[in-house]
Amino acid sequence: MSETGAVAPAVEPDSFPLGLIEVDADRRVVAANPEAGAVLRIAPEELVGRALGDLVAVGEGAAPPEWARDWHPSAALRSVRRIPEHPVTLRCGDGGEVEATVAGQYRRSGDGRLQGALLVIRPTHRRGFNPPSGIEVISTVSHELRSPLTSVKGYTSLLLNRWERLKEEQKRMMLEQVHHDADRVTRLVNELLDISRLETGRLVLRRQLVDVGEIATRVVSKLALEYPDLDCTVELPEGFPAVYADPDKVEQVLTNLVENAAKYASPRDVHITGEVDGDDVAVAVHDRGEGIPASDLVRIFTKFFRRDHGKPTGSGLGLWISRGLVEAHGGRLTAESEPGHGSVFRFTLPLDAFDALLEHERPRGEAS
Ligand code: ADP
Repeated sequence: MSETGAVAPAVEPDSFPLGLIEVDADRRVVAANPEAGAVLRIAPEELVGRALGDLVAVGEGAAPPEWARDWHPSAALRSVRRIPEHPVTLRCGDGGEVEATVAGQYRRSGDGRLQGALLVIRPTHRRGFNPPSGIEVISTVSHELRSPLTSVKGYTSLLLNRWERLKEEQKRMMLEQVHHDADRVTRLVNELLDISRLETGRLVLRRQLVDVGEIATRVVSKLALEYPDLDCTVELPEGFPAVYADPDKVEQVLTNLVENAAKYASPRDVHITGEVDGDDVAVAVHDRGEGIPASDLVRIFTKFFRRDHGKPTGSGLGLWISRGLVEAHGGRLTAESEPGHGSVFRFTLPLDAFDALLEHERPRGEAS
């Protein structure tokens, strides 16, 4: 199993298609795979022993990441495991520089002590997924909008022109399709609005105490209309605590995860589980599909990324938005996958959000 932004231990580092660098607690390289050597134009064994900060270019215009000097302050928190993907300019063995993105995972001992990190390096302009240009985005979105609108136009024309001649069940089928396509258009437009709100920090959360089990049950019964084969159980433990969150956003995230399981994995044997994990609740959607290869797993949360695997695809926005919505709540959304066995998408929501609100609202001078 591997976490997105990190690397599946099951993967042979030598055959992994992205650069991998492992560093110890002192931030010195202890291992690097051939791809990391190829990106940095140096023999991988020559990287071993070098300080992580030395690999980063701190030139004009190149904003170094925080870890160029020391661990990011969040590394001190035992619950933080993921290093989110961020751009960086790296120094190459031949004196040149390369633009890349770095993501990763902290390595921790059983009691949570920081032991190092595993970093995944992807050159920005070589192989792999390059974010689409504005024109490509418009073309993707237009295409996504056009297909449901074409069917709405076609069916409504038929209904208007042949109303008297159509059988009841034909009319019903066409109206159902129009209804479904109108939902698709609404969803896509909402996704685009969410993108601009997330990117400009204008997303407003309408928080209340939310029963996640109730939302999960509603999501499953709504999706069962669209995916009649859906067999998804909700298994939250007794007394699962309510969380202070925006119910519409939690529903949106769960809908995306369960729908992805039905669409891209298998509608059979999907499970929604929940647990209290320290100061958070964690909700996970498990599927038993083909799984996602590690090389794609690190990219599925990228905006507009869609895997090319012959399955129906959408806009490539769902997971990016879901992660943004979860993070807006102060939680994390991660994915693990074992090719051949399925995937687990897991998000957390902080349990103390309501207490923090009470703290904030309490009039000055009032004792706690
Ligand atoms: P979309 O909005 O197009 O459905 P997402 O951002 O939700 O895209 O997902 C991105 C890609 O991740 C999809 O194209 C799909 O290939 C892959 N994916 C997402 N969830 C799963 C899953 N449970 N199993 C296999 N692949 C998945």
